[in-house]
Amino acid sequence: MEQMSPLALGFVGSLLAGAMTAVGASPVLLGQIPSRATRDLALGFAAGVMLAASFFSLIIPALDAAESRFENGAAPAAIVCVAILLGIGAVAWMNERLPHEHFSSGREGPEAASLRRVWLFIFAITIHNVPEGLAVGVGFGADGLSGGLPLALGIGLQNAPEGLAVAVSLLGEGYDKGRAWTIAALTGLVEPIGGALGAGVVSLSQPLLPWGLAFAAGAMIYVISHEIIPETHRRGHQKKATFGLSIGLVLMLFLDVWLG
Ligand SMILES: [Zn+2]
Repeated sequence: MEQMSPLALGFVGSLLAGAMTAVGASPVLLGQIPSRATRDLALGFAAGVMLAASFFSLIIPALDAAESRFENGAAPAAIVCVAILLGIGAVAWMNERLPHEHFSSGREGPEAASLRRVWLFIFAITIHNVPEGLAVGVGFGADGLSGGLPLALGIGLQNAPEGLAVAVSLLGEGYDKGRAWTIAALTGLVEPIGGALGAGVVSLSQPLLPWGLAFAAGAMIYVISHEIIPETHRRGHQKKATFGLSIGLVLMLFLDVWLG
């Protein structure tokens, strides 16, 4: 793997991480669905991994990259702050703008509202997989194997409960096992698109590196706050969700410091 180009590493690494979404959804195919409490714990874990990855694998490297260009002073921090806000703003804008109403056509009333909520959740999971892929790609593009590996591992780990959450919510709306699993798997397959893009951009352009890293962090932070944490707190399992978040956070911190 050492001889692969950063672009190829970014693509393969993010593809493998994205494939974990399908692996995580597979209990649905076997008819073995973990309890809601277990799923909230696992999704809380995903939020913790994403939170730690945002800071330790993206924001801190973004600050380092900006400092190596601009010395200390206000410029590096300002660049990273602006890029984080741009990342948050971009996903918020996409969430508002992209049409998803048509998924609920043909149904009326509260049933349609629940189907719409499920599709909004799936939409958000899919969208945030682009910056996750971007993060993995940027990691490989900036620092080769050692930069990308902890991110690919951590992002892969947190994709599993996300895939399960998507597949289970579709089952709840009456989709059959095969379709629920396939849609969940597809949400993960957008990850290599971000991966190739991220690795390509940062290996071509060093000045873009802090911007790319911090933008990807902002996009992830939006989804953690807007979708994942609220989803884990909707059914009264806040304690388990927070426990999962804590474990995910320290595990990702450990992986990043140990492998990064
Ligand atoms: Zn995620």
